[in-house]
Amino acid sequence: MAAIPKVCRAAPATNGGTMEYTITCREDYPVPEPKEGELLVKLNMCGVCQSDHHMMAGDWGLGPAPGVDCTGHEGAGVVAKLGPGVDPAKWKVGERVGVTPVHWTCGECEFCNNGHETICLKKQYVANAVNGTYTQYPIIHESWAIKLPDNVSDEQAAPFMCSGGTAYTATKAAGAKPGNTVVVFGAGGGVGHMVTQFCKADGFNVIGIDVGDEKRKVAEHAGAAHFLDVTKVAEKDLPAEVRKLTPDGLGAHAVIVAAGNPKAYANAPGLLRPLGVIVAVGIPAAGTAVAGADPALVTFAGIQIRGILVTSRVDMADALRYLADGKVQENVEVVPFAEFPATLAAVAESKTSGRKVVDFNN
Ligand SMILES: [Zn+2]
Ligand SMILES: [Zn+2]
Repeated sequence: MAAIPKVCRAAPATNGGTMEYTITCREDYPVPEPKEGELLVKLNMCGVCQSDHHMMAGDWGLGPAPGVDCTGHEGAGVVAKLGPGVDPAKWKVGERVGVTPVHWTCGECEFCNNGHETICLKKQYVANAVNGTYTQYPIIHESWAIKLPDNVSDEQAAPFMCSGGTAYTATKAAGAKPGNTVVVFGAGGGVGHMVTQFCKADGFNVIGIDVGDEKRKVAEHAGAAHFLDVTKVAEKDLPAEVRKLTPDGLGAHAVIVAAGNPKAYANAPGLLRPLGVIVAVGIPAAGTAVAGADPALVTFAGIQIRGILVTSRVDMADALRYLADGKVQENVEVVPFAEFPATLAAVAESKTSGRKVVDFNN
């Protein structure tokens, strides 16, 4: 493996943590030194997620810590250097590794112990507590470093670390059975097209909802049996349209909101059958939406609302088996490093379908 350089490619934000951020491509970003329990990673690919925009804009009420100027939380590459204390039997220099949105969890709190480690009381998120994958040489904690299957490429693995894992956990949270109807809001988007594929792989009748023909194509290719284009179907007609597409006419068993659009949350309850489940995945800017429904509906119809935040390590291992077995696949467009800023801008405005991935080596 080539020697580790002193500086590297990165797309840091010049004004991290404010609504006014801009990111700039640099060739001279410092390469850090891994500390106790950490790995220095050399990334080949970095997925671009709409969360990157929200993290830099700070509009979730959660911005990067001081000194954190590289966002990004999904990448694939190789281990470049082991920090002190990392077991060389567990990780080797040159070994393939994936970077997920979680940097570290305590392993001891109530939530870690109950299988909900992504909401650990002491958790540290990549791009929030530490620099993220918008630098080619990020530092990650060995406990959350992901081993990548041999037959999964970096361009597939990078976006999968966020969108694939999240989609898997969201699909599981829907609690649906084969033959059940599941509505996916944002079915042509980065997370939504993966949710659609997991739903299809698990035998659900998927109704995708999104905007325009390009997203329709992606959603249908991902396995949506039906597609409702909100530029053509009025919002008030969505409940009736969904019922028409549900074999027994009762509505969906679950609605997975994979879009960060407040309207998706507003419309979700009306699409459900009794005992239906809303799975909240997409996160609009804080204060712009409510996930839920009129309490009369929630109680009389027994509606449930479940929130999903990325994915646990156990779920990630399960999800990667779907990817390695060819049951799901990221719809990826790889762009060169120089297109980082333009790509983030397009993703921030929901103008892209599938997942954009930046190639650090091009
Ligand atoms: Zn993400
Ligand atoms: Zn914990």
